[in-house]
Amino acid sequence: MKRQGLFEEETICAIATPPGRSAIAVIRISGKKAFPIADAIFRGRQPLRSFKSHTAHFGEIIDPSDQQVLDEVLVLLMKAPYSYTGENVVEIQSHGNPFLLQKIVALLMAQGAQLAKPGAFTRRAFLAGRMDLAQAEAVMEVISAQSATHSQWALSQLKGRLSKKVSILRQGALSAVAQLEASIDFSEDEIPLSGPKTLEGRVKCLSGEIGAMLADYEKGRQIREGLSVTIVGRPNVGKSSLLNLLLQEDRAIVSPLPGTTRDLLEETIYLAGMSVRFVDTAGFRETENPVEREGVQRGLKAQEAADLTLLVLDASEALSVEDHDLLERLRDVCKIVILNKTDLEKKLDPSSIKTEFSEGSYLELSTITGEGLDRLRNEIVALFVQGQEKEPPLIALLRHKNALELAKAALDRAGDAIKGELSPEFVAIDLREALDALGEIVGETTLDDILDKIFGQFCIGK
Ligand code: GDP
Repeated sequence: MKRQGLFEEETICAIATPPGRSAIAVIRISGKKAFPIADAIFRGRQPLRSFKSHTAHFGEIIDPSDQQVLDEVLVLLMKAPYSYTGENVVEIQSHGNPFLLQKIVALLMAQGAQLAKPGAFTRRAFLAGRMDLAQAEAVMEVISAQSATHSQWALSQLKGRLSKKVSILRQGALSAVAQLEASIDFSEDEIPLSGPKTLEGRVKCLSGEIGAMLADYEKGRQIREGLSVTIVGRPNVGKSSLLNLLLQEDRAIVSPLPGTTRDLLEETIYLAGMSVRFVDTAGFRETENPVEREGVQRGLKAQEAADLTLLVLDASEALSVEDHDLLERLRDVCKIVILNKTDLEKKLDPSSIKTEFSEGSYLELSTITGEGLDRLRNEIVALFVQGQEKEPPLIALLRHKNALELAKAALDRAGDAIKGELSPEFVAIDLREALDALGEIVGETTLDDILDKIFGQFCIGK
């Protein structure tokens, strides 16, 4: 479906590959004049416009002012409407030299092409109805994906998984509006099946489906952003050693001197296709040292924002006051309690932790021998990664969550209005609001400044 009246006149061009040197780089041109503009600087067997769509052609880029040959290139042609943007598109594959690329772009601009703004090609694809807004956002996710899981999720969004669901929900809301209008036009006796009860059920069902999508948002966010796991514990229990063991490298300074780690240390590894960011924090203890105190504060903040906390205790010492405080503080937090230094003589009674502080289990580990590392990895995977494979969450972007929350609230208000036997006009207003909020996700009811914001986050050339 074309989005009427939104078409742009200019032909745009941009370098689509990252800055720097590379074997090959791509320059994209899109718009009504893409072929004549490209033809003005391309010398091949025939003018580009005479070739069939979706063909590749070898030739030279020349400077029309002095006929100097700048590079040997391969050019791809895609004719409207069967291109990414829905317009005529030319992609020039040149050698990846930044000076050369700048020169080719300058030549294209001299022929009348405009330099594309970030996201301009995808914005055109959206305006041409080649994809909806949720799919356009997925393009960005495909490019920026940080893990295999994120990448797969982004691709399914690009293929329209969320769009299809939103379309079904919108159809449901539209049917509810139609049903409501029918009940305004006829009296209840004439069409009993269209009465408020059925309508109420329909609205409730829609709200429930949106509720289920919202409930999965956190999982989606974790797929996008990766998991954040903080490592906490009093000084010297082996937090930095644990970080190094997880990373399989000496990233953090390990020292027998308490208080060595003062700032947060962050490193990412991949577990079962998920990106997991571990944050090593300064040891938690009362201290007069202002730098160390600031470190402890930062650690607390990081812990509050984390998806999972690894609380490290030293199994070779009895539970200290600081350990007690931490166990108390983290009582209701998603955590794994780790008894480290199990290669030494055990002085800590694990049963006291289990009964007093923790619903979940504890895990014995030695960062010196590596014993327990596999179990720790498996536990993290079991907590977050498993289960995600079955039915990947439909939403992961805050914009989608906000729109769904608005839609659900409007549907719930409509439900209350039906139950309270309020005038059908009130119900209609709420249902329309729900429809609009759902439309925002796919770009049916999205304002221009929101589009600017979304496409502004893209890279140039996409
Ligand atoms: P942090 O202050 O909690 O980060 O602790 P570190 O990782 O700096 O370790 C403090 C001390 O404990 C260092 O001397 C480490 O070598 C030692 N250590 C850490 N893990 C173990 C372990 O599993 N077994 C033994 N025996 N010593 C360990």
